[in-house]
Amino acid sequence: MDEFYGRNMPDADFVEADFVPKAQLYGRFARVFNERGEEFFKGEVSWSENDLVQATARQPGARAWYVLDDDALEQRVRDRTVADMVATAQTAIDPGDLPFTAPPGARIAVRVAPGITHTIGGLRVDERARVLRADGSPLDGLFAAGADVGGISTGGYASGLAAALVLGLTAAESAAL
Ligand SMILES: Cc1cc2nc3c(=O)[nH]c(=O)nc-3n(C[C@H](O)[C@H](O)[C@H](O)COP(=O)(O)OP(=O)(O)OC[C@H]3O[C@@H](n4cnc5c(N)ncnc54)[C@H](O)[C@@H]3O)c2cc1C
Repeated sequence: MDEFYGRNMPDADFVEADFVPKAQLYGRFARVFNERGEEFFKGEVSWSENDLVQATARQPGARAWYVLDDDALEQRVRDRTVADMVATAQTAIDPGDLPFTAPPGARIAVRVAPGITHTIGGLRVDERARVLRADGSPLDGLFAAGADVGGISTGGYASGLAAALVLGLTAAESAAL
């Protein structure tokens, strides 16, 4: 559960075109509960919210409830308000319908489930993007880049596109040597 990057999505069916617009990327403004009504995430949510998504994956049924008050709904994430993002979620309900007692001031609740964007774990490579054996020696003629490589997002999420672009170019240059 430590080895994926993802987004909490509405706990309902969605298609590829929904990946970005339906992502519920406002966990930092919500009170977050599991199905048992426990606030399971301690501390500050990271900028990517990937720590919250991974924590959600460890909850019973791998589900969470984002519970929002009026103040939270007015917050902005990039070009949208939290209310805008909630409006895309078909799993938004009245807090009175939650399976546990809603906190005071709750205005709306959204049931979310983790979606995996890409894995973080993967093959070990060196600075030339050569795939390494367990003993650290390179495998002749085998290169890896992007989501297939591990050991990059070890202190929190880094960019998946950067891992693809930087190591892809490095692998190509190494192969051409
Ligand atoms: C919705 C979404 C939003 C994202 N937003 C961001 C963002 O804002 N910033 C960011 O940094 N990253 C973002 N990412 C992550 C980023 O897109 C990926 O980390 C990156 O594209 C991985 O690159 P890659 O080359 O490793 O793999 P991919 O881009 O998946 O490329 C693999 C390619 O291999 C092809 N392929 C697979 N199997 C075969 C086969 N057998 N034969 C031939 N071809 C094959 C596939 O069709 C694909 O074209 C996002 C990802 C998603 C899904």
